[in-house]
Amino acid sequence: MKVFVLAPDEKPLMPTTPRRARMWLKQKRARIVNRTPFTIQLCFEPSSRYAQHVKVGVDTGSKTVGVAAVAHSQVLYQAEISLRTDIKRSLDQRRQYRRNRRKRQTRYRPARFNNRKRPMGWLAPSLRSKAESTVRAIVRVARILPVKHVRVEVASFDTQKMQSPEISGIEYQQGELMGYHVREYLLAKWRRKCVYCGRAGIPLEVEHIIPRIRGGTNRVSNLTLACKTCNQSKGKRTAEEFGYPDVQVRALKPLRDAVHVSIIKTWVIETLPSLLGQVHISTTYGYETKYKRMKTLELPKTHYFDAVAIACELGEKVMPGTVWYQFKCVPRGSYQLYNGSRSEHRVSGPKKVFGWKLFELVKVNGQVGYISGRRVSGRFSVKDAITGKLLVDGIGHKKLIRLARATNGLIVHVNLV
Ligand SMILES: [Zn+2]
Repeated sequence: MKVFVLAPDEKPLMPTTPRRARMWLKQKRARIVNRTPFTIQLCFEPSSRYAQHVKVGVDTGSKTVGVAAVAHSQVLYQAEISLRTDIKRSLDQRRQYRRNRRKRQTRYRPARFNNRKRPMGWLAPSLRSKAESTVRAIVRVARILPVKHVRVEVASFDTQKMQSPEISGIEYQQGELMGYHVREYLLAKWRRKCVYCGRAGIPLEVEHIIPRIRGGTNRVSNLTLACKTCNQSKGKRTAEEFGYPDVQVRALKPLRDAVHVSIIKTWVIETLPSLLGQVHISTTYGYETKYKRMKTLELPKTHYFDAVAIACELGEKVMPGTVWYQFKCVPRGSYQLYNGSRSEHRVSGPKKVFGWKLFELVKVNGQVGYISGRRVSGRFSVKDAITGKLLVDGIGHKKLIRLARATNGLIVHVNLV
């Protein structure tokens, strides 16, 4: 467990031990600025601003993002961010409400669905929320740690390197790393199923179309994926002799641009430099992550461990962290009908009811959740902090225990590894 430290001018310093943080706080030489992740700010100028080379790894995803920071063979920070998946549904619902309103016998409301121009770099709202949340997750780390390097995984394999393996280093050409790369490539090319029987979701073996014994090479154009049964019954025959001449034809066509960097990742990589300034930004591939996580670090598959693997160099071993932070992105909760610039009447409920706000992290009946609904009478509904399932409805405000205030539409939770 690390305590994050900020200088008096809010610039991040290297994290410290809980023991030293406790001492500083007791002597009133520091103050608490955040409880999750626990962050303190010094009230005195540190004698030196020594900073190690802090590297951040980002495992982007469409539902969950993993972020980890590593320095001097130690994991300083690891987190998982659950992105919002409810945006499309909410917008569809809003569209339906507006359509109904226009149909009602009310004053004339012009249709406004098609009178806006899309600016350059426009993203669909659901994608934009994901991309912005990913960037925010990285910026949040850079605010508490002196980050020097950010590495983002962009695709599962490198098409260019696959076509000409000689551009990579010796370690790649002779090691198992190439095996990982070839496998990821073949999985994408043959769509994760046995080419002969077409079954998916079973263990697949790398298979030579023209067998080695018949002069077949190890080049990817001679490789495919097959299940154990098909592989064995094919034996020493070529794919054509086995009754699948089309496999031989398909194998010769390289997988060109089939794997493109997703819109979210492109947006993230293009946006980061302007937000992080001096930080070096680089990209990596999924096969490297998998190799590092399984072979060097020997860690199970989770989003934050993948992020740790992304942050590490090839062959670098790190001491794992003891806690991981779980973030959940939640809506800010305002209702556009009343808050937009064209709203006819501005009504919004009181921000606080009996001192409680929406999206505060609370404990109810021993469960951790967030306030999802409030009534002026002082009754609240609470949803689970991670799954978003309703825990209790209509509970009195006196039964709530506050864990954290709502910060920028985000719920935070600490877990032990
Ligand atoms: Zn098969």
